[in-house]
Amino acid sequence: MPSLAYIGLGSNLDDPRGHVERAIAELDGLPLTRLTATSRRYASRPVGPQDQPDFINAVARVETRLSPLALLDQLQALEQRHARVRRRHWGPRTLDLDLLLYDDRRLEHPRLRLPHPELAARAFVVVPLHELAPRLELPGFGPVAALPAWQSAGDLRALLPER
Ligand code: ADP
Ligand code: MG
Repeated sequence: MPSLAYIGLGSNLDDPRGHVERAIAELDGLPLTRLTATSRRYASRPVGPQDQPDFINAVARVETRLSPLALLDQLQALEQRHARVRRRHWGPRTLDLDLLLYDDRRLEHPRLRLPHPELAARAFVVVPLHELAPRLELPGFGPVAALPAWQSAGDLRALLPER
């Protein structure tokens, strides 16, 4: 049986929406992996200086026969490919891919913590995750519908589909 994993995507540089859309398609192309659902895309204002683009975020669900660490390797390789885009200043990456959940695994590995340690605190992860799985229980964190991040969910803006 394949495993079920949730992946958080984020970008705020060099056409962030484009990076997120392409990365979603690329997730479907990973070995032994199939994209099964994606949330709406969300925009959030960056923390700190406001003269930079909104962050675009989404969550994807995949079925995979890759191990958690093999999946992380693939996600990091995908990040690297997106990071090659030339930009004026060093800053936030053009693409951030976080492995949020992998089945109901809990893991404390030097390269991989599951569930993702910041998940419960980030509205831009919790809101799209809830969209895909409203009754999800996060190992160690409880129901997705009752996480601390909901307090700041009002700052998120759902985007219309492209085209
Ligand atoms: P953030 O996503 O919190 O902004 P980074 O993407 O820069 O931070 O963090 C990358 C590091 O986090 C990598 O070294 C990776 O091995 C580690 N890491 C630990 N757990 C996870 C996880 N669940 N998903 C993605 N990276 C993780
Ligand atoms: Mg990351």
